[in-house]
Amino acid sequence: MRLRLVAVPVLLALAFAACNKKQKAQTIGEGSMPGGGASAAKGASPLTTVTPITTPTPPAKVAVDQTAQVIVYGYHRFVNQVRRPDTEITPQMFEQQMQDLKNRGITVIGMQDFLAWKRGEKNIPPRCAIITFDDGWKSQYDVAWPIMKKFGYPFTLFIYTEGVRGGHFGGGEAITWEQLAEMRDAGIDIQAHSETHQDLRKPYDKVAKKKLSPPEYEQWLQNEVARCKETLEQRLGIKVSCFAVPYGFYNQHVKDVAKAVGYEAVFTVYGQPITFRSTMDSLGRYLIEGNKPKVFADAISMIATSGGGGAPVAEIGSSNIASKPADGETTRNPLPLISANLSAFGAIDPGSVTMRVSGLGVVPASFDPKTNTVSYQVTKKLRDKCSVIVEAKSGGKKVEAHWTFAVEEAGAAAASATPKK
Ligand SMILES: [Zn+2]
Repeated sequence: MRLRLVAVPVLLALAFAACNKKQKAQTIGEGSMPGGGASAAKGASPLTTVTPITTPTPPAKVAVDQTAQVIVYGYHRFVNQVRRPDTEITPQMFEQQMQDLKNRGITVIGMQDFLAWKRGEKNIPPRCAIITFDDGWKSQYDVAWPIMKKFGYPFTLFIYTEGVRGGHFGGGEAITWEQLAEMRDAGIDIQAHSETHQDLRKPYDKVAKKKLSPPEYEQWLQNEVARCKETLEQRLGIKVSCFAVPYGFYNQHVKDVAKAVGYEAVFTVYGQPITFRSTMDSLGRYLIEGNKPKVFADAISMIATSGGGGAPVAEIGSSNIASKPADGETTRNPLPLISANLSAFGAIDPGSVTMRVSGLGVVPASFDPKTNTVSYQVTKKLRDKCSVIVEAKSGGKKVEAHWTFAVEEAGAAAASATPKK
């Protein structure tokens, strides 16, 4: 899938935030530079315990609730004084959001339960959320963890290994390997977020400041995707099965490499409700920014009234509905005509068609039974990422389709040309 440029300003800010840890202390960890790193990492810590990964007998398939829906949230830093609202949030606001999930009847589940549900091995409640923290900031240990304990919520850390304390980007605000081990022992799920947190689609290594030849790029990509997993597995004695692509940037090749090295799930930053049928190679997360609490609330509203206990839902893949704007497309028009062809839904009850748009809720869409087309002319400017859910009744069953597109803001394209290190 192509880069959605609209996300770039936010993502550049994340890049800056991620790299900022470096400013405090970056002298250690040269041995972990690409090309020489894993061996240094492997032998370095007294905590190195490699747990042999036993293969459990496959659990029996259970009748899982295929209508359950999951939203995934991503957070970065927890600070009392927000200076970079794109990656920071106050503990108070975070705690309130965790409370809101409880109040709205959304169950916070752990990553492993989610994966088991997707494999058809375990049931989950109808409406769930997964909480993830990116980039290994110390405040995730100091500030967020105690709040999560209060609620008894599980969560996942997405760690990029050179951002851990002592790594190339592991300055004073970075989490330490010891803290990670303590969290692991308490049952916190730890997953991979690359080695040096770069745009994995581009043959340029920002750390080495080097343009990469095709073979060099493949080796570098392998290090970012696979060696990161190995390092986490070996230093922490865990099994790593999920990969969050840095900045949410990916393409088919990045996904193929992630699959080939054994990841079960790849997460992005394009938030959308995840269903039983969502593909595992690009699971969208809602990144929460301190100045955009609406993103948090919108994500809840996307699952709050659909699914969960209603009639069985059949989901139609976004490739079968000729959606406009298309799934994954970046449009420059903030007032697009949103439309989809619902022929794949079967014989539709025309009165049952609803369209739901993130940030707007249910919109007054019209449905033309002659062409099977549902459409809605947006009247209020859209920004950022936009998820659409179309639902209808067909043969007494609820059928739905989801897709996501992005709206490019003026100037975003220019900004993308100057990545910050
Ligand atoms: Zn990140």
